[in-house]
Amino acid sequence: MNRFTRLIFFLLILPSLIFAQENESPKNIILLIGDGMGLNYVSADVLKHNNSPFKRFSTVGLAITKSIDDLITDSAAAATAIATGYPTKNRYIAMDTSYNKLYTIFEHAEKLGLLTGVVVTGEIVGATPAAFVTHHYNRSEKREIAEQFLNIDIDVVIGGGAKYFLPSDSSHSDKDKINLVDELKSKGYNIYYDFNGLFKSVSSDKVFALLDDEGLPETVKRDYSLGDLTSLALKHLAANEKGFLLMVEGAQIDWAGHDENVNYLLSEMDDFSTALKVAIDFAEKEGNTLVLVTADHETGGMTITDGSFDGENLKIEFLNSHHTAGFVGVFAYGPGEKLFGGIYENYLIGRKIFHLMDESYQFSSNH
Ligand SMILES: [Zn+2]
Repeated sequence: MNRFTRLIFFLLILPSLIFAQENESPKNIILLIGDGMGLNYVSADVLKHNNSPFKRFSTVGLAITKSIDDLITDSAAAATAIATGYPTKNRYIAMDTSYNKLYTIFEHAEKLGLLTGVVVTGEIVGATPAAFVTHHYNRSEKREIAEQFLNIDIDVVIGGGAKYFLPSDSSHSDKDKINLVDELKSKGYNIYYDFNGLFKSVSSDKVFALLDDEGLPETVKRDYSLGDLTSLALKHLAANEKGFLLMVEGAQIDWAGHDENVNYLLSEMDDFSTALKVAIDFAEKEGNTLVLVTADHETGGMTITDGSFDGENLKIEFLNSHHTAGFVGVFAYGPGEKLFGGIYENYLIGRKIFHLMDESYQFSSNH
């Protein structure tokens, strides 16, 4: 380059290249949520494992997690913020404080012709996945939340919580007698109750896998990882030429935090990392895929107070067994990643995802 062409490059071409990279829209989005995974949870993973997949993310942001009226959020309000782009009250599932449904990134993805999927280690009617696909003012109404899975054309559902879809043995009301699995079958879903059956599913199937009655067994008590489940979901979603939106939740990271159980916490973080690795490997291989990792809140005021220099034998302590208001990380890799740097409220994660899927999407100021 002579001096003149170099000048043209720096003045005209380089800014447009940077602009294009920052505003590039991904074809596929994989959103991974570590429930309760505050920054120190990530610190522990990175200190313990030199090759932690968290190190592969090139853009990092920090999200403020408070709900609309409470400094300390629960999973329902935080997942609603991420799923809809609006803050709400604790316990509300994709619903505003006037009981209006809040439109979710999953509903919009379906409208745009993307395939959609959720993979969780808790119940699929749990607050986090529920906020992406259903609407309710009370996260505990799991039977009603289960019914709403029939209202959306989600393509892959993998997790626990079978008992909310099957007739209950001790029926207290007519509702308990409803067999939602029959209705799911008539909607074209293949139903799976164990990992081996799911493993044999073919890529064109619509999948509904209810792998346990409640949450899945903790990771050390099952012979498949969240990464294995994520791979299976990708097998079903990746063929769509318009792309897909997949949400993966490491639900039991939070449960370990509430229990103040260090071994449980570290093994669930390892399990979550298997999914991170699968997602980022997929994005590297296929391109056109944004991988986002975040959390709904921190649990337990967890901190690392001692340990050996190589990260072995970490001494981990908890302040209490509740959620806290600490920042959570937002780790981004792929087209559009630059949007996720900085410090911002968690509902902006949802807004950024809406805009990456659909540049013309407008938010109303009514909520
Ligand atoms: Zn919790």
